[in-house]
Amino acid sequence: MKRVAIFGSTGSIGTQALDVIRVNRSLFEVEVLTAHTNDELLVAQALEFSPNAVVIVDESKYTKVKSALASTDIKVFAGEAALEEVADFDTYDIMIAAIVGFAGLKPTLKAVQKGKVIALANKETLVVAGDIVMQKALEHKAPIIPVDSEHSAIFQCLVGESRNPVERIILTASGGPFLGKKPNFLVNVKRDHALQHPNWSMGAKITVDSATLMNKGLEMIEAKWLFNLRPEQIEVIIHPQSVIHSMVQFEDGSIKAQMGYPDMKLPIQYALGFPERLKNDFPRFNFRKYPNLSFEEPDYKTFRNLGLAIEALQAGGNKACVLNAANEIAVWAFLKNRIGFLDITAVVEKTMAAIKYIARPSLQEYFDSDAEARNFAATLIKL
Ligand code: NDP
Repeated sequence: MKRVAIFGSTGSIGTQALDVIRVNRSLFEVEVLTAHTNDELLVAQALEFSPNAVVIVDESKYTKVKSALASTDIKVFAGEAALEEVADFDTYDIMIAAIVGFAGLKPTLKAVQKGKVIALANKETLVVAGDIVMQKALEHKAPIIPVDSEHSAIFQCLVGESRNPVERIILTASGGPFLGKKPNFLVNVKRDHALQHPNWSMGAKITVDSATLMNKGLEMIEAKWLFNLRPEQIEVIIHPQSVIHSMVQFEDGSIKAQMGYPDMKLPIQYALGFPERLKNDFPRFNFRKYPNLSFEEPDYKTFRNLGLAIEALQAGGNKACVLNAANEIAVWAFLKNRIGFLDITAVVEKTMAAIKYIARPSLQEYFDSDAEARNFAATLIKL
C-alpha cells in the first residue's frame, strides 16, 4: 500500500490522480489533499478518501472546511505555510506535486528533503530552481518521477538504458489551438479561444502556455534537469496528433518513442505505480484511426515564447526563474482580459531583459529573482 499526498488535489492533475486511485484502492491510500480556494471540492474529496490531513491555502475558507469535516478525524490546516508543514509529515510515501506555478516549489522541496518519492507534474519547480531541487533529490535519495506526458514518455523510454548515453531527446508539441496562425490573427485572440486546446483537457494556466508554446519551452528546461542534458540535446517537433508523447535517440541512432492516446491518467498511473505497470481499462490505441502522424518545425518567428525559453535554457542561472515569474503574471493578466495574447511574450521578454542575471543563485536568490520579476512584470501590465 503506497500512501499518497496530492498537493493540488482539486486541479486537473489532482482530480485525475484521484480517478486513478479510486479504481486502485487496494494499492493506494490517500493521506493528504490540498487546495488553494476550492473548499467545496476539497471537502467532497476528503469525505470520499478520508485522508489524514487537508490543507486549504485560502485562510478565509478554514472555518468552512473545518466545520464540514467536523464529524471526521481529518486534520484541517490553512495558509501557505501549512503546505510545507504537511509536506514534512512522515505519514505519506509519495507526493503528487500538482500545484500550478511557483507556489508548488516550497512544498515539493520540503518533500524532496524528506526523501519522499515525487510524482512531479509541477514543472515550474524545476524551471525555477532545477539545480537545487535535483541536487537535494540526490542528497536525500528522493526519486523524481515525471508526470508531464512528454517527460513520462522519455522516462519510460530510458527504463533499462542506464548504461546507454542519450544522444538527444525529441519533445513533441501539439502546437496548441493556434498552430499555423500568424501574428495578425493572434493579436485578436481572447481568453476563451486560447482555453480550447485541441487534444488535452488541462488547467487554465498550462492551456494558455500550450497556446503560446511557452509550455514547450518550460518542458525543455524541465527535461534538462530531469535527464541531465545539455541544451543542444533537447529538440522540439510539432506533432499535431499528440500520439507520440516524446522520443529518445541513443548513440547508435536508434529512436525509442512512447505512444498512446493523449490522456494524463496514463502518466499519472505510471508515476504512482512505478516500477510496476498497472492493468487498466483505458481505451487501447487504434492505429487504423490515425493513418497519418505528421511532424513539422515549430514557428519560432510567430511563437516567440519558445525562443525566449531556449534563451533561458542556454543562459542558466536565474534566467528561467525570471522567465517563469514574468510568464505567470502575464498569463494571469491575459486570463483576466487585462492584456492581449501577444502581450504575454512582450512582458516576458522585457522582464528577462530588466532583471539582473545571477549565474549561480542560492535558493533565496531564486525567491528574490521571482519576486523582483513579478513586480517588474506587474508594473508593465500596470496591475
Ligand atoms: P489546475 O489549475 O487545474 O490546478 C492547480 C491546483 O493547484 C489546484 O488544486 C489549485 O487549487 C492549486 N493551486 C493553485 N494555486 C495555488 C497556490 N497559490 N497555492 C497552492 N495551491 C494552488 O492546474 P493543472 O492540474 O492543469 O496543473 C498542475 C501542474 O501540473 C502545473 O504545473 C502544470 O504545468 C502541470 N501539468 C499539468 C498537466 C495537465 O494535463 N493538466 C499536464 C502536464 C503538467 P484550487 O483548485 O483551489 O484553485
